[in-house]
Amino acid sequence: MNLKELVRHNIWNLEPYSSARSEFTGNASVFLDANENPFNMPYNRYPDPLQTKVKELIAEIRHIPAENIFLGVGSDECIDLAYRIFCRPGIDNVVAMAPTYGMYQVCADINDVEYRRVALADDFSLDIEAMLAAADNKTKLMWICSPNNPTGNAFSLDTLSELCRRFHGIVIVDEAYIDFSRQGSMLKHLSELPNLIVFQTLSKAWGSAAVRLGIAFASKEIIDIYSKVKYPYNVSDLTQRYAIDRLSCSDEVAEWVNTLLENRKTLIDKLSELDCVKHIYPTDANFVLVRVDDADALYSHLRSHGIIVRNRNRVEKCLGCLRITVGTCNENDQLINAMLKYEKR
Ligand SMILES: *Cc1c(COP(=O)(O)O)cnc(C)c1O
Repeated sequence: MNLKELVRHNIWNLEPYSSARSEFTGNASVFLDANENPFNMPYNRYPDPLQTKVKELIAEIRHIPAENIFLGVGSDECIDLAYRIFCRPGIDNVVAMAPTYGMYQVCADINDVEYRRVALADDFSLDIEAMLAAADNKTKLMWICSPNNPTGNAFSLDTLSELCRRFHGIVIVDEAYIDFSRQGSMLKHLSELPNLIVFQTLSKAWGSAAVRLGIAFASKEIIDIYSKVKYPYNVSDLTQRYAIDRLSCSDEVAEWVNTLLENRKTLIDKLSELDCVKHIYPTDANFVLVRVDDADALYSHLRSHGIIVRNRNRVEKCLGCLRITVGTCNENDQLINAMLKYEKR
């Protein structure tokens, strides 16, 4: 892989904005460099543009050096930046497995980049030959989501490594649900695979969707390009403070994950006893994809009982399916009770 040939020329040659806070490093007590208001501490100051403390904590937790970490305003920013860094609008294309997370396509459309979808097999396994066959010399990125949203299955690390080795562009593996998965993380192969970018997020297992913090792991060369293209102060100081607190309590997160895995098992057991449920797909995430007798009717019924699930009835390969997030025991019981009422109606 030749990174320079993959990155858009204007981005490769970009002279990034140099903020007051990034030019100065060291100790000082009088800050008259950034036209801030000296009142209203601590909100008056611009945040650390490189989020040094947050990255150090993530580095410790994931055993990846801080220089291989980028932080964005949710994975959403990490996704959008991938297009802006690698894909020339109207010229380049990307290849993605389908069905998968909708934001990859939305960001492709916004950036005017052709989005090529390669269907998963009926059992939702990944066909890497078909992914490679869909690529040409204008294909800059491949999108893999593992565990996949909305199907719930994870792909083997061997398959994903092979895809990285055989494709000469960038492979992005979105691991938003990795903490719920039996399949390990691709992070253990990061140092051997220079074209791999792994996304994780604080929005799911870490219970912090509100604060908007997404993580990209990649080679230092790729991370440096991400860092020069982002808005200088993309991650607010409020988010950084919160993330430092949250990342310091990873024991609590592990407890949440254990509880949710138990609740997932109970939920699947109860769902499997219902007549309206035709199939429950295996899951490595904090949700289950279920095929039901009439997805639209059941969706409306649940909605009228104040229960919202995700209707995937019109998504390819997911006809007749609802995607159900694993909640608390109480929430899951409410769902099951409403489904029992649906069957008796
Ligand atoms: C929920 C989810 C995310 C999280 O996105 P954020 O912007 O970090 O909240 C990322 N990828 C996938 C596949 C998801 O399902």
